[in-house]
Amino acid sequence: MLAVILEERQQRRTIDAQYQHLEQRVARRTAELARERDSAQRYLDIAGVMLMALDEQGRILMVNKKGAELLGESESALIGMDWFDNFLPAGEKAAIRQVFARLMAGETRLLERYENVILTRSGVKRVTAWNNTLLRSEAGAPVGTLSSAEDVTERRQAEERIRELAFFDQLTSLPNRTLLLDRLKQGLVTCLRNASHGALLFIDLDHFKSLNDTLGHDTGDILLQQVARRLTHCVREEDTVARLGGDEFVVILAGLNGSAKEAAVGAEAVAHKILSSLNDIYHLGNTVQRSTASVGVTLFDGKQVSAEELMKQADLAMYRSKDAGGNRISFFDPTLELAMKERVVLERDLRRALADGQFLLYYQAQVGSNGRLCGAEALLRWQSPRRGLVLPGEFIRLSEETGLILPLGLWVFEAACRQLAVWASQPEMARLTIAVNVSARQFHEHDIVDQLLQVIQRTGAKPERLKLELTESLLLDNVADAASKMSALKARGVCFSLDDFGTGYSSLSYLRRLPLDELKIDQSFVRHIVANSSDAVIARTIVALGQSLGLGVIAEGVESDEQRVFLASIGCVAYQGYLRSRPLPVDDFEQLVRRASCHA
Ligand code: C2E
Ligand code: MG
Ligand code: MG
Repeated sequence: MLAVILEERQQRRTIDAQYQHLEQRVARRTAELARERDSAQRYLDIAGVMLMALDEQGRILMVNKKGAELLGESESALIGMDWFDNFLPAGEKAAIRQVFARLMAGETRLLERYENVILTRSGVKRVTAWNNTLLRSEAGAPVGTLSSAEDVTERRQAEERIRELAFFDQLTSLPNRTLLLDRLKQGLVTCLRNASHGALLFIDLDHFKSLNDTLGHDTGDILLQQVARRLTHCVREEDTVARLGGDEFVVILAGLNGSAKEAAVGAEAVAHKILSSLNDIYHLGNTVQRSTASVGVTLFDGKQVSAEELMKQADLAMYRSKDAGGNRISFFDPTLELAMKERVVLERDLRRALADGQFLLYYQAQVGSNGRLCGAEALLRWQSPRRGLVLPGEFIRLSEETGLILPLGLWVFEAACRQLAVWASQPEMARLTIAVNVSARQFHEHDIVDQLLQVIQRTGAKPERLKLELTESLLLDNVADAASKMSALKARGVCFSLDDFGTGYSSLSYLRRLPLDELKIDQSFVRHIVANSSDAVIARTIVALGQSLGLGVIAEGVESDEQRVFLASIGCVAYQGYLRSRPLPVDDFEQLVRRASCHA
């Protein structure tokens, strides 16, 4: 018995010993595993970059110490957080989550390296550079990502600063000479490609040196900063304003359309805007100063001349402005400069002409659809003491560009209305109509209807005797607006003719919407109507169009009986042109009418 008991004890001891041994081994292994895990984490933590694993939903599975530091949250709190919701700027969340979803769906080409901005827990933006690897299940399906991210914020800021130093002026933050030349070269290429023009404006402040010397450099700097701001306000966003240094600035105007002369007009308008803006007073600390500038302009179209050469041209032109006393604009090309000067003189003369009553109306007979003289088109003439009798071709366009057409057009309308009122009391003249040309700029005035109605009332003219000649371009700008203005005038009895018809867009849909009375076939189709079959086809089409819309049709520029007969044969009897009469002063026109009524 004792032997049995001893045996059992012995066995238990052996088992206990074995168990203890096992326990020790398990404990040792557990400690070993913990050490392994810790050292793995330590390795992750030693890494100088953020390491992070996301599951397939974009939740954080693992993040190292560097990542936690960057994100501003403890590692344990980060586990399970949605990456996209919590750490991306609002505007980018959705797009980046979508890319991630596509990645999980197998589009592995999306794994390329990229940089983006992340938001830390405290809302600070950091620029991070990412490298991503796909985590896959045993079956090979994507189940998440393992990424490393490097915080490159400071590096990018330094690069930006270097770029600023290299390309921007420190005082004004405007582009410097290097960037200017680069933009100018780009501008030349664009001009060549688009067959458009650009302009280079060289601007130098007048007497800046003495201001700088008397008021001190700090004050001079403030002035230069204000000049920079004003220049920037004078141009469009696509233009460039640069500072070369000192008080020298350069402006590149891009995409000026039209001919060289038209581009010059555009460039000159900007140059004027710049001059007048720089002429405004400057508040410099405690003092108030005035300053002026000299501007040199050269045009470019991308052909032949290099960027450096253009800079020289504009600089040279600027010196011409300086030599002439400053506060002015000079063009490098003397012919353009002459044209600009002529424009300035013409504009000044036109203003004086309006004030001094140098304008008058000529009247050109219109033959109606019954073959009888039924009225006249009033055509503007300028009796200039210096230039003689000037035709509208020489001044209407400039009047439109300068806004002078508004008072001038109103003067024409009033003169025609007064003439109608005078004729109303003369038996032979009383039945005549007068057609008045109205320019687009004038008709776009918001209160044009009131202006015209007031003149009609003041002069006592019969509105039924008035015909307004409008052009297609005018109507097309805003069909609804034109239609409502025309309807308002038509309600008072005024008629409408569509001048120079056939040269514009002539779309049926807008013709239908407008309360027109007449189409006027442009003289360019009449000129060769007998010999040129395509002109004849156009004239025929216009007549048919007029008939189908219930509108009258009149031809202008009819010079020969052949033309008149041809037009009559296609259904257009009404006409105007040298054949019947040239535009005449009012007395001569009245005589013409009297002679005509004697013969009738
Ligand atoms: P428009 O309204 O088309 O006027 C017709 C032009 O053709 C007039 O030129 C007229 O003298 C000319 N003409 C008339 N019959 C013949 C002809 O048989 N042969 C040739 N070759 N030409 C003929 P004008 O007077 O020099 O006027 C030119 C343009 O100036 C007018 O074209 C009109 O657009 C504009 N204009 C004239 N007066 C005014 C006005 O008071 N206000 C506005 N805004 N524009 C006006
Ligand atoms: Mg006309
Ligand atoms: Mg015409």
